[in-house]
Amino acid sequence: MTDLRLIAVPALTDNTIWLLADAAGATVVVDPGEAAPVFAALARERVRLGAILITHHHDDHIGGAAELAASTGAIIHAPVDARIGVTAVRVGDGDHVVLDAPKLRFEVIAIPGHTLSHIAYYGHGVLFCGDTLFSVGCGRLFEGSPAQMLASLDRLAALPADTLVCCGHEYTVANCAFARTLDPDNTALAARSAQANALRAQGASTLPTTLGNERACNPFLRIDSAELIAALDTTRHTDRVERFAQLRRRKDSFRMPAQ
Ligand code: ZN
Ligand code: FE
Repeated sequence: MTDLRLIAVPALTDNTIWLLADAAGATVVVDPGEAAPVFAALARERVRLGAILITHHHDDHIGGAAELAASTGAIIHAPVDARIGVTAVRVGDGDHVVLDAPKLRFEVIAIPGHTLSHIAYYGHGVLFCGDTLFSVGCGRLFEGSPAQMLASLDRLAALPADTLVCCGHEYTVANCAFARTLDPDNTALAARSAQANALRAQGASTLPTTLGNERACNPFLRIDSAELIAALDTTRHTDRVERFAQLRRRKDSFRMPAQ
């Protein structure tokens, strides 16, 4: 992604809105849950908004889209889902979003699980994956089955190791605390945890992460590792979907230990 600029904009409680700007100063925005911090970022970074990309229908990912589109003329791209009630170019698995300003091109990848119509955008070595893959974690299964979510994560995990993973939330510190309960001897995870704690202590973002690092640290991508099998397998031999489902259930009930 030479001469492109990737900008993380914190929003709401723990969302991250992403901008990817080309060399000419035109940009996309991904999952604008609110408009105000995006307007501020456009001014601060001196970039013009040309397109809006939406990964899924949840309010914290679309709340600012209509206002941004109305005031900038940016074209919204969104999955086919009536719950996204804005005028948009509807895109689905295998489609390509080809833009002139900014001069960017993305492949659309269907990744059901967190929601059924959830999609990712992949291009220029950057992956915008919403609430499906987080750093050292994954999204909750609100609509899809464990098998669907695992297949979605498998597709994302097959992308190149240097892919920049731009997810929708800053959950890394809590995700590391949970992961370490299951994968305590993982040195890559220990290093990511220390790095995330240090970044958050300074008020800095832990994102983006790389797919290579996620394959090394993220328990939801390590479901077939000896360590996770040992941590999750119970008396009977569970298959990988059952292991994944069990891991997701454990995460749902995990609470951060008191400091
Ligand atoms: Zn969501
Ligand atoms: Fe979200």
